[in-house]
Amino acid sequence: MHVVTIPVLRGCIRHLLNGSSLTCRCRIAWKRNYSFFRDDVKSVKAVLNPDISKIRNIGIMAHIDAGKTTTTERMLYYSGYTRALGDVDDGDTVTDYMAQERERGITIQSAAVTFDWKDHRINLIDTPGHVDFTLEVERALRVLDGAVAVFDASAGVQAQTLTVWRQAQKHKIPCVCFLNKMDKPAASLKYSIDSIKTKLKANPVLLQIPIGSGKGFTGLVDLITKQKIMWLENSLASDGRDFEMRALQPSEDPELLQSVSEARGALIEQVADLDDEFAELLLGDYGENFDAVPAGKLQEAVRRVTLARKGVPVLCGSSLKNKGVQTLLDAITAYLPAPNERHHDLVRWYKDDLCALAFKVIHDKQRGPLVFVRIYSGTMKAQSAVYNINRNGTERMSRLLLPFADQHIEIPSLSAGNIALTVGLKQTVTGDTIVSSKASAAAAVKRAENEAEDNRSSHRESSSLVLAGVEVPEPVFFCSIEPPSMAKQADLEHALSCLQREDPSLKVRTDPDSGQMILCGMGELHIEIIHDRIKREFNIETHLGPLQVAYRETILQSASASDTLDRTLGDKRHVVTVELTVHSWTESGTSCDITFEDKVKAQLSSDIREAVEHGVQSAYFQGPVMGCPVQGVQTVIQHVSWESGTSSAMVSACVSRCMLKALRLAGGQVLEPVMELEVTLGEENLSSVLGDLAQRRGTVREIQTQQENKVLLATVPLAEMMGYSTVLRTLTSGNATFSLELSSYEPMNLQDQNTLLNKMAGLA
Ligand code: GDP
Repeated sequence: MHVVTIPVLRGCIRHLLNGSSLTCRCRIAWKRNYSFFRDDVKSVKAVLNPDISKIRNIGIMAHIDAGKTTTTERMLYYSGYTRALGDVDDGDTVTDYMAQERERGITIQSAAVTFDWKDHRINLIDTPGHVDFTLEVERALRVLDGAVAVFDASAGVQAQTLTVWRQAQKHKIPCVCFLNKMDKPAASLKYSIDSIKTKLKANPVLLQIPIGSGKGFTGLVDLITKQKIMWLENSLASDGRDFEMRALQPSEDPELLQSVSEARGALIEQVADLDDEFAELLLGDYGENFDAVPAGKLQEAVRRVTLARKGVPVLCGSSLKNKGVQTLLDAITAYLPAPNERHHDLVRWYKDDLCALAFKVIHDKQRGPLVFVRIYSGTMKAQSAVYNINRNGTERMSRLLLPFADQHIEIPSLSAGNIALTVGLKQTVTGDTIVSSKASAAAAVKRAENEAEDNRSSHRESSSLVLAGVEVPEPVFFCSIEPPSMAKQADLEHALSCLQREDPSLKVRTDPDSGQMILCGMGELHIEIIHDRIKREFNIETHLGPLQVAYRETILQSASASDTLDRTLGDKRHVVTVELTVHSWTESGTSCDITFEDKVKAQLSSDIREAVEHGVQSAYFQGPVMGCPVQGVQTVIQHVSWESGTSSAMVSACVSRCMLKALRLAGGQVLEPVMELEVTLGEENLSSVLGDLAQRRGTVREIQTQQENKVLLATVPLAEMMGYSTVLRTLTSGNATFSLELSSYEPMNLQDQNTLLNKMAGLA
């Protein structure tokens, strides 16, 4: 089978599929590289629209710095997609294509990359590891069928991996683990496997053992096939492309033979425990003779175990030293599911009609918004109209592209299971479901209803034909943003609306008092990146106000209040009287509630009821202490009376005023976001970092030992963590890493609250 590198074929394919002849330049490239395809346009079509069972939609997830980007680069290189090895340390990788990513060496936007490996099509979404961008990860996981978790083998499971792992579990995504950095002296297979068991509560199925350790790490033994795989250190290129693969010989190092035999025995027993079919085969045909178990049967069983999510295959390697990436690619195709092996009700109801989910929008200067879609059923065609169920509107898609990081290849159509990039969809935003027409959506509703009737189950709402979107977390930071001049205000609004379509975790609102635009985001880095992108991509120099923490408010006790509003506007008199009680409602988490006493409920028309609710909600929006959103409050409406001719707006205004009174009487309490902090550092820096944390109102929960490092787990108020990365870098000479994640909103003590209020009032 030929491995086809699509970028080289690009021009040729376009011409052939359009039915026109090749241009001179294309002809040369075609002849030189792919003359075997010359008369076989069908094969070219197969390259573009592969058999669904050969597609793998895969995400890579990891803690920052574990080596995702390096691993992705190596995959692209060995698949023939790139011709030179990219290096994150030099800032020239393919997937980290946004300028900020290249500069900062982190992956921010999920870049989808498509490449072929052996006879499989791999659509790979490179997900970011920084906690400010967990929404990106969630968005990517929503449309993937399988994931590779990359670990630093010297650190095992780290904080961010845990978060992403939980997200993958939520979406029931089968995973493969890759223990990277086996070349590091502190790398430990045992430690990493144990941490997968204890921290991820997963069941690791070890498929390889490393040969040599630290700098002496030279290869692997595949426990399924008993093949020894050695990368040739002294080969001229030393790019890891050449490796030697042969069956283990009886003349090998006896220690290696012994550990292979033990590890393979353990693997077979473990798989037999997890898979009944394999257990029966083992008992019936092989008994204790594990050596005779055929590799194919064992591999099939490991695949079943992985797809049933009873275990996760574990592989090892060193991406930087070019070892183990080809075997990881083999494992992706062997163990992770094809799109048709995943269960989606919608596929059944839409049959061969198009059904796709928009999972990411990016803004391209020339082409406008580009929408990434995952096709669940049917075929998507360029220059066709599609119906967006969520927006209830038909849109025209002009072009269809295959995504190759920052390069895109134009294609005429794409079938189910694939990931595509569409041009021309102006209304569609992240999370929308796209089908071919309103009629096809109606037909799917019919099928779903018929099925529900056959099953005698409850009537299915048509909304269930919409693919589940993405949960957007609440922002914890905000700051004002100003254009350089009033003339640029409209441009800035446009830029922010483009960026919001791309990134729903970015929120923009207008301050009701100052009229300023406020940017709300997930962290310092998030806001900084947005600021940077407005400058680079939209050419607007904006001014950001100081970064502020998004506080909340609650009440500590119950209080009742009543209010009467009597106002004459023009020749109309408006009179309303309201009585209500607010209660502290701690078990509610972050929400608030409103109820009406029965006698009140009976007398309210729907208009007045809505006006009352609106009044309560606007009081929840701006609390009495600092004007922050209120949480954990239940309001009971006890009395509402009004004279005829009173407008709804006056009812709302009276309720809001009465709420403010009641909330003030109930004693306001400020809640602040408290973060879960994990710092990995050397023992020599521990005391200075602990000292610094004490000054930040931090509470140390645990100090763990991780090989030669210490892992410090603490909770710290977010307000104390501004600029922490710079301070930590100085304290540890750059030898520590940390991650920060929202834990909960906690009440501030009286002294801290007073300090904060004085600061806000400009008194401190
Ligand atoms: P990401 O943040 O997970 O995308 O990680 P990167 O791929 O950017 O790698 C982070 C750092 O680890 C870089 O300095 C890489 O050169 C280094 N790195 C990546 N893979 C390996 C490896 O296999 N061995 C060693 N020793 N370093 C590695």
